[in-house]
Amino acid sequence: MAITVNPDLLKEIKEYGAFDINACFNCGNCTAVCPLSDTVGSFPRKLIRLGQIGDKNRVISGPEPWLCYYCGECSDTCPRQAEPGEYMAALRRYAIAQSEPTGIGRLMYRSGVFAVIVTLLVGIVLGAFMQTVKVGKNPSHWIFGAVSYQMIHYLGIAVSILAVLTIVGGIMKIFNRLSSWEGGTKPAPGKWVSALKQTITEIITMKRHREESPASEPVVWYRSHAWIHLAIMYGFIGLLVATTLDFVFLELLPLHLSIFWPARIIGTVSGLVMLWGVSAAMLRRFSKEEKNAAHTSLPDWWLLIFLFVLALTGYWLEIATTFKLVSPVNDGIMLLHAAMAMELILLLAFTKFAHVIYRPIALFVYFLNQA
Ligand code: SF4
Ligand code: SF4
Repeated sequence: MAITVNPDLLKEIKEYGAFDINACFNCGNCTAVCPLSDTVGSFPRKLIRLGQIGDKNRVISGPEPWLCYYCGECSDTCPRQAEPGEYMAALRRYAIAQSEPTGIGRLMYRSGVFAVIVTLLVGIVLGAFMQTVKVGKNPSHWIFGAVSYQMIHYLGIAVSILAVLTIVGGIMKIFNRLSSWEGGTKPAPGKWVSALKQTITEIITMKRHREESPASEPVVWYRSHAWIHLAIMYGFIGLLVATTLDFVFLELLPLHLSIFWPARIIGTVSGLVMLWGVSAAMLRRFSKEEKNAAHTSLPDWWLLIFLFVLALTGYWLEIATTFKLVSPVNDGIMLLHAAMAMELILLLAFTKFAHVIYRPIALFVYFLNQA
């Protein structure tokens, strides 16, 4: 692979949350403690070295930044306070920003003011659109006068299609980069199946993350990084399933929403699981007790706040619907909930949320190329 040196590479990565990685004097402590260094060579030191010499292609072309699960062990043992764990997190943000063609992601990651303005603007436009345009006849269980039931569904579909279009460009870019990865081989055809199995297993169980948890992880499982992450992921998936079931069945059948309707039960349980996961993640970040929660960037808060508000407003709406509580406040909460849910999907390619797409792809390429 041709080497193009970018002398400003570390400066650029720093804008995505890295600390003074130039202070690294290559002692190798981080590699010695990293649970991944057995399987991924000199990890994370190799990526630090590549960053220091400005080799941008090799820094972001491989899947390595996505293998790190941010345990923070390397940062804990670094004698130079170069925060290698934060460097790895910044590399992932950098890779996401480099994968979308509009430049919105790059601006949102680097400027808090820009991120806030875009978030408010997109939210206000979506909210105003839903509040103004009324489509179709609302079903009998619908108690929110300010928003049309059909409008939410139609706009939700349109937003999802737009999000898919923006993320497809990023996926093509990331595949293109991964195909030029120096660790890539020509895997045997049968390897695809086992790589896919390994990827799915890792995503749904986070086995590697849990089993290789460093000594500094809290002993109690409910405070562990991996379990909190799993709770947020499964809670979110459950809420998506519940919303889809609601849409499919309540649109087709003249059913009334009840707390015992299966989709409601899935939604209620999933919402609780996600709310616990997000609250625990926020508490860890507020307390800063663990090394991997000591520094929280704006993109991290952005995602956590979105998920937290979505879960809380979701419960509010469930109570209002179950007890038929008609009020302008509930109308406002409905509008907020719908606008934020759509915004989360619409901005998928430009925010930390993109890792739900990019990490599985990188893991798959990594497993595919393992001996
Ligand atoms: S522990 Fe710190 S100084 Fe040593 S190689 Fe890692 S980042 Fe560099
Ligand atoms: S944060 Fe953990 S997994 Fe990531 S490089 Fe550091 S020690 Fe390795």
